[in-house]
Amino acid sequence: MTALHDLTLAQQSQALSSGQTTSVALTRHALDRIAAHTDLGAFLHVDAEGALAAAAASDARRAAGQALGPLDGLPIAHKDIFVTQGLPTTAASKMLQGYQSPFDATVVAQLKAAGAVTVGKLNCDEFAMGGANENSAYGVARNPWDTDRIPGGSSGASAVAVSARLVAATTGTDTGGSIRQPAALTGITGIKPTYGRCSRFGMIAFASSLDQAGPMARTAEDCALLLDAMSGFDERDATSAEQVRLHDGSLTANAPGVIGRELDALSQAAKRADPARPLAGLRVGVPKEFFGDGVSADVLATTRAALAQLEALGATLVDVSLPRTELSIPVYYIIAPAEASSNLSRFDGVKFGHRAAKYTDLNDMYRKTRAEGFGAEVKRRIMIGAYVLSHGYYDAYYLQAQKLRRMIADDFQAAFKVCDVIAGPVAPTVAREIGSQTDPVQEYLADIFTLPASLAGLPGMSVPAGFGEGGLPVGLQLIGNYWQEAQLLHAAHAFQQATDWHQRQPAALA
Ligand code: GLN
Repeated sequence: MTALHDLTLAQQSQALSSGQTTSVALTRHALDRIAAHTDLGAFLHVDAEGALAAAAASDARRAAGQALGPLDGLPIAHKDIFVTQGLPTTAASKMLQGYQSPFDATVVAQLKAAGAVTVGKLNCDEFAMGGANENSAYGVARNPWDTDRIPGGSSGASAVAVSARLVAATTGTDTGGSIRQPAALTGITGIKPTYGRCSRFGMIAFASSLDQAGPMARTAEDCALLLDAMSGFDERDATSAEQVRLHDGSLTANAPGVIGRELDALSQAAKRADPARPLAGLRVGVPKEFFGDGVSADVLATTRAALAQLEALGATLVDVSLPRTELSIPVYYIIAPAEASSNLSRFDGVKFGHRAAKYTDLNDMYRKTRAEGFGAEVKRRIMIGAYVLSHGYYDAYYLQAQKLRRMIADDFQAAFKVCDVIAGPVAPTVAREIGSQTDPVQEYLADIFTLPASLAGLPGMSVPAGFGEGGLPVGLQLIGNYWQEAQLLHAAHAFQQATDWHQRQPAALA
């Protein structure tokens, strides 16, 4: 029999319902594997006791003959940006060392309600700021394909845990690429939903107008299972969507189950039409700005081969243009720090988190607490943010960035007049070596292909598309129009039925 860690989420679910294994066995196996691979730096906290208790409860539900959803009894782990009742939550910052939330983030609560078993909390960049997992206060996370390399970030360890098969699926958050880029660099699948699909309640805020939760797993099928359970309207998040648009243009309540049903309908329709060409009729937009200078030759070649594969599956390629792609970097690196500087003002040593041991007065307490608690990149963002929001600079930077953000979103709508999804690279290169980038601006430039969809609030995903230099994974990015996650997942699933990139695994961890 296949080793338990080689089973995808869907296969584990199948093995549970057919009685081939138990949730306790799956959970024990995951815990053992996590313990054997601590060198990867993936977990900040493992809750063996809580996980085994939740697994036993799931097995008891099953034994009692209860009707169970597909995630019931499956071990998963959360990025340490989600607050979790009874487990520490740090956002990978010293600022929140020892912090325990009195409640669960909505996404965590929804996955728990679906029966998923939380095995622990995953490393990431501090407050999700970064693209390499090097900004964690608790050490780097390592890419399983080459442990001297970064796994990407900020959901770096969420990607590592899946890529190394410690667990079959994890949660991540994506503000400017933090699900898609680490998924690409570690050879797994990840999707950032439309802004508003998943609740941000209990997700420690970085840039509130951009932050979205999403799933990371080996396959599109598994991402769909997780996303289906994570999504839904939440009155505790003011920007949570009450309604979502279905593929046929009609509106429906934003709730768990919607994506699963749409996906079923899409795959039924494709099967009825022409099973050999499941993507027949799909117009894939190829933005020229995503295929120019700055993309390394190996990523370019791999991405083009993936486009050809989509064509072979029945899709039609259409040339489109996203003319403001380059501007997405200055726009994002004004708006995200501006919102961060405001969001992070709550960490002042008064109510929760770190407080300096010695201080003279209140201002001194704030100053010392924040100087000690935040890492260098977080401080840099707070300073940039405070600067662009300050009197005299607000109009020149922040307001201007807001206007350009709107134009970036308009460019996508123009493109979606002639195509259904947009495809291109996720990151300009394969994973770099740990410690090899010391210039923050150079690091920001590498976000060029993930920022546009974030700024527009559009859903985007990364699908394993092959390997580049050094045998390192390359991801294909698929961007959809608002609420078209099912269409993205359908296209990605069809691609994965025809390719085996997502099944490859790092040799050292087999
Ligand atoms: N790399 C980007 C940044 O550093 C994106 C981070 C994210 O999506 N959380 O801000």
